[in-house]
Amino acid sequence: MKVFVFSTQPYDRQFLEAANHTHGHELIFLEPRLVAETASLLTDAPVVCVFINDRLDEEVLKAIAARGVQLIAIRATGFNNVDLKTAKELGMTVVRVPAYSPYAVAEHAVALILTLNRKIYRAYNRVRDDNFALEGLMGFDLHGSTVGIVGTGKIGQCFAKIMQGFGCSLLAYDPYPNAECLKMGVQYVELSALLSASDIVSLHCPLTPENHYLINTESLAHLKRGAMLINTSRGGLMDTKAAIESIKTGQIGYLGIDVYEEEEALFFQDLSDTVIQDDTFQLLQSFPNVVITAHQAFFTRNALQSIAETTLASITDFARGRVCPNQISLDS
Ligand code: NAD
Repeated sequence: MKVFVFSTQPYDRQFLEAANHTHGHELIFLEPRLVAETASLLTDAPVVCVFINDRLDEEVLKAIAARGVQLIAIRATGFNNVDLKTAKELGMTVVRVPAYSPYAVAEHAVALILTLNRKIYRAYNRVRDDNFALEGLMGFDLHGSTVGIVGTGKIGQCFAKIMQGFGCSLLAYDPYPNAECLKMGVQYVELSALLSASDIVSLHCPLTPENHYLINTESLAHLKRGAMLINTSRGGLMDTKAAIESIKTGQIGYLGIDVYEEEEALFFQDLSDTVIQDDTFQLLQSFPNVVITAHQAFFTRNALQSIAETTLASITDFARGRVCPNQISLDS
């Protein structure tokens, strides 16, 4: 099938082309994000393949439907960037990659924890400067700490296993407790209880209209003073301005994020020669106890291979009229 691939990075092309040997789709790679202004780049194709910062709102969906799109293949797990109601009204099918490597994201959350706790980012620069002093680099033992996991699906479960290996006590908040986590001894509590008892809080739930700004001024007031907050899920789960205020008062002791609510304008591009206009992001960057990565938690070769293979297999299922296991239900 003819597939327009938006937001193409060199690594997307590499892995999609390699996986396409067994599928034989006609892949047309485009670098821009799919937004209202770029929808006209798509010409008469049944399939569009998109990533997390492509914005498939009502306007874009109507524009691409008029150009023949019947299938939206999201090469990611989250689908908060697609207006599913409009997609349904337009008779479109939406597929995603429900699981590729939950390990990749869970391990990156742990990388942020270790980096922040042991101040690796500061130590690295100091040693390169021949500054071998330790003052200011003190961490704490993860062993014996309490870790609160918000969302215990595939990634949250992997994260729980890793943190249990460190000797942490595990709390969780999830409307649907995970049987495997319960077996491991994870204790499910309300969000406020999790926030007040945890030394480290890590977000692993999807972004939905209901949990937008789950971490806000009110919920941050429950946070144990000086705790570490990690977000590798979606930027919209955390009110960044509220988090900044909490960092200033010391309520948040450490912040590690791989996602940012306004990341669309920043991430996945080299802006090193540009003056960044986002003052909130720049302020966040300036704190010594904040580590930001630019949505790279998924970025392992294992994950990219799996994403490419699953995405193209879903397109093949669609082309052959088969039921696709990765189809998102548009009924709710
Ligand atoms: P999953 O569907 O397996 O699990 C999500 C869990 O969150 C479920 O158990 C669900 O019950 C729970 N949940 C839903 N709403 C909740 C809420 N308000 N509070 C607490 N728990 C809630 O999903 P997954 O594969 O574990 O992925 C989780 C999220 O990770 C994705 O939705 C995506 O946003 C994010 N993600 C980020 C990256 C990255 O590169 N940074 C990569 C992949 C996924």
